[in-house]
Amino acid sequence: MPEIRKDAFGNGWVIFSDKRMGRPNDYEKKGIKCPFCRGREEETPPEILSWPSKKNWQIRLVPNRYPALTSIENFIKPSNGLYEYAGGYGLHDVLIETPEHNSSMEKFSTERIGKIFEICAQRCAGMKKEKNIKYAMVFKNVGRNAGASLRHPHSQIIGLPLVPVTAENELQKSAAFYKKNRKCLFCETLKNEMKLKERLVYENSSYAAFCPFASRFFFEVWIMPKKHQPEFEAGNNDFYSLAAAVKNVFSKLKKSVKDLSYNMIIHSSPKGDYRHYHWHIEILPKLANMAGFEWGSGFHINSLKPETAADILRKGKIFNPDREER
Ligand SMILES: [Zn+2]
Ligand SMILES: [Zn+2]
Repeated sequence: MPEIRKDAFGNGWVIFSDKRMGRPNDYEKKGIKCPFCRGREEETPPEILSWPSKKNWQIRLVPNRYPALTSIENFIKPSNGLYEYAGGYGLHDVLIETPEHNSSMEKFSTERIGKIFEICAQRCAGMKKEKNIKYAMVFKNVGRNAGASLRHPHSQIIGLPLVPVTAENELQKSAAFYKKNRKCLFCETLKNEMKLKERLVYENSSYAAFCPFASRFFFEVWIMPKKHQPEFEAGNNDFYSLAAAVKNVFSKLKKSVKDLSYNMIIHSSPKGDYRHYHWHIEILPKLANMAGFEWGSGFHINSLKPETAADILRKGKIFNPDREER
């Protein structure tokens, strides 16, 4: 049975789970049969949803066969001061984004991307209705450096019994900013980025994409709704404008960065009233793994300033690590 333990020194939660072992990995082993391809539907647990239909599916949502958490509801123990832990309860799904094994986000139609976000939002809302789920997160790993195990385009949706540390940090910072300024930290940042334009990558009527001021990773891009909205799954988000933004950003990233590996994460508010929060997407390209200094200090070393990264993306230049002025 998986278990979640909290690090008393502020380093977050650790999930202990042996279920993740034995996952197929087509980056390591050639010739494995892809469980997400059409015709191999029986290799995943039965679907939660298929779009547009079960037989002619274009998008499939299935429970993860190798979940990090268990769907059996179990204990949550209060802290005794030193050790805080919870049973490894949670929900963990896989969203198969296309039947095409060798496709990728920038090749998808905006209709497909919009539908993907719609299904993700619907599932996150469903997860958050569960009594003991406090937080739902959508994430996507692409490429070996980003921890992906299967090439076939897919995202994962996870429902957690607690609020993860990254979300807690953003919630605290935005709450403090709101208390002091009576304004949303995210709205203010977005307004400023749209005015300055030097880190702006893309903009349409509902969304803007920019390289954040303190980008942790080279070519890091955030996509944010222009309208203040705490929850990704709130129901009034225009996912087709979002799809246009996402497709544009990935086309630019693919053009400028060779062998792009990345994580894409949707940050939304936890269950409850967090009106000072503002949902957004973080795209974190991965060049290399974090090393000792990063782990030891919480610092990130980034070889490329976001102003340069945004300029390269906007102009459609090809990034050459040896030539680029930093
Ligand atoms: Zn496949
Ligand atoms: Zn806002």
